[in-house]
Amino acid sequence: MSQRTTTPRAELHTHLGAAVDPVIMWTIAHRQGIRLPVKDYWDFEELITMGANEKNKGVDDMDKKYYHLTELIQSSPEAIEEAVHSVIGGGYRKCNLVLQELRFSPMKRNRTGERDLDFIILAALWGMRRAMVEYPQVNAGLLIALDRSFTPAQNAITLEKAIKYASDGIVGIDLCGPDRDTFSMKDHTPLFARARKAGLGLTIHSGETGNLEELRYVVRHIKPERIGHGLAAASDSKLMKEMVKQGTVLELCPTSNLRNSVVKDVETLRTIIRTFIDSGVRITINTDGPEMYRTSVLKEEEFLLANDIMSEKELAQATKWAFEAAFVKPKDGTKGKRK
Ligand SMILES: [Zn+2]
Repeated sequence: MSQRTTTPRAELHTHLGAAVDPVIMWTIAHRQGIRLPVKDYWDFEELITMGANEKNKGVDDMDKKYYHLTELIQSSPEAIEEAVHSVIGGGYRKCNLVLQELRFSPMKRNRTGERDLDFIILAALWGMRRAMVEYPQVNAGLLIALDRSFTPAQNAITLEKAIKYASDGIVGIDLCGPDRDTFSMKDHTPLFARARKAGLGLTIHSGETGNLEELRYVVRHIKPERIGHGLAAASDSKLMKEMVKQGTVLELCPTSNLRNSVVKDVETLRTIIRTFIDSGVRITINTDGPEMYRTSVLKEEEFLLANDIMSEKELAQATKWAFEAAFVKPKDGTKGKRK
């Protein structure tokens, strides 16, 4: 169905590993000669997407079950170019996404050093550029993801690559990955300061699970423009006040939170989102990965409406905030959101 008449939307929080149509993943896997664990396309589709009744035990479980395979398939310049290209075009066709920021970890796509990070990033940028020429209505940018499973030294290498390509379409830095005992947010603080100084936007996955201490640290000491999820803040009114004051924008991903068991049920999700709205916290609605969770920005909105979590007016406000909080500069160069 054509989405031409849908009001333009922006999506800020999508992971490449969860965003590519299984048909395209199937083709690029075969084209590279990757030996897949299944021989039937439908089994493959089931393997990399989640059904309505499927749940992961947590973020770590999700990471192991899904990302390992999708990241492997996307680990070549040819594969990542097609993957990025398909997501930007698909978002426009399916949801009228005229602004999309897509994130990925280059270091999880270089086959542990076998592939060159520069070529992975350049190919991703080329895929994005191709999509923007084919769909001139769309503005897009890539976010480079640092990861909790890497050391500060490894993440520093990735950051330098992001800075190197900042003028080519890398618009920001993210930090992803399930909680790890070995990870220290404090040790990574200088990296975020360096990214900001280089003009990159900052978003950090934090407070997705119950780690309120980390989220407090992120808001108070790193002060990113956006936070991935940030759900833990709903139990701390002082922290929410600080976020409102700083203008922090939350990238919410409702279906993902339910599927990954970080939010128990719809009732709990409603309480969290209503708390944010009633406290004046700016929120945006995202998918986290439309293909893996078999959703889209439009489906997320329908779900929130149908369950009396947000009103039409509040959803329109969230869309407005998404456009305002984007790191991608408008195509005409009129204003940059960058601080
Ligand atoms: Zn995410």
